[in-house]
Amino acid sequence: MKTTKYTAVVLAAGSGSRMKSNVKKQFMDMLGKPLIYYALKQFEESAVEEIILVTGEDAIDYCREEIIEAYGFTKVAQIVAGGKERYNSVYNALKVVKGEYVLIHDGARAFIDQDIIDRAMSGVEDYKACVIGMPVKDTIKVIDENGYAVSTPNRSTLWQVQTPQCFVTEEILTAYEKMMSSSQTGITDDAMVMEQYGCRKIKLLEGSYNNLKMTTPEDILVGEMILKNL
Ligand code: C5P
Repeated sequence: MKTTKYTAVVLAAGSGSRMKSNVKKQFMDMLGKPLIYYALKQFEESAVEEIILVTGEDAIDYCREEIIEAYGFTKVAQIVAGGKERYNSVYNALKVVKGEYVLIHDGARAFIDQDIIDRAMSGVEDYKACVIGMPVKDTIKVIDENGYAVSTPNRSTLWQVQTPQCFVTEEILTAYEKMMSSSQTGITDDAMVMEQYGCRKIKLLEGSYNNLKMTTPEDILVGEMILKNL
């Protein structure tokens, strides 16, 4: 029995090796605050009732003291240890979610805002499975193993997928359980798990081109420019 309506799972585990930094990317400084602060703040200020933060086992104390207590976040109900791959981290969190609906968000997407969260919450009530994304602006090529173009999908049918990715908690948990007991590899988002193991079609809803994932050191510079203009 689920006791609340909306839970946000905010992902901040993983090594962040593409950031080439001693500080894990999710905790890197961006305008004087750790990167993960920004996504947590948006969910704290939203209608979401519960936040599950997922981080590395070795970063749990740091998150509790230096982020949740230091910034006074009151909705973070649990800090859960993540796993090797993103999907391991999501699965660990899904097992403790209390909300009827779950919004799964990459903590590295610092520029999530209230509009996107509102759209995600009403979207999941309407469609039961929805992900935030945007139409692609560039032409996309499918390439072969030698780097030669094989085909050019019709751009009007292509979206880049972001987060939050939102589901009925019981349904995505069931899909994850099936996926985890298979030998599936290469899972890069939650919608893939629902597509392959779940019971729902997934609706795509517009987010924002600003809803970027901070992946490399250059992203932090762009991120600071975005923050200064918000
Ligand atoms: O590595 P990637 O860019 O796919 O990470 C997307 C999000 O998933 C990030 O917020 C990262 O902290 C999180 N992640 C995780 N556990 C992993 C790998 C990534 O929580 N094992």
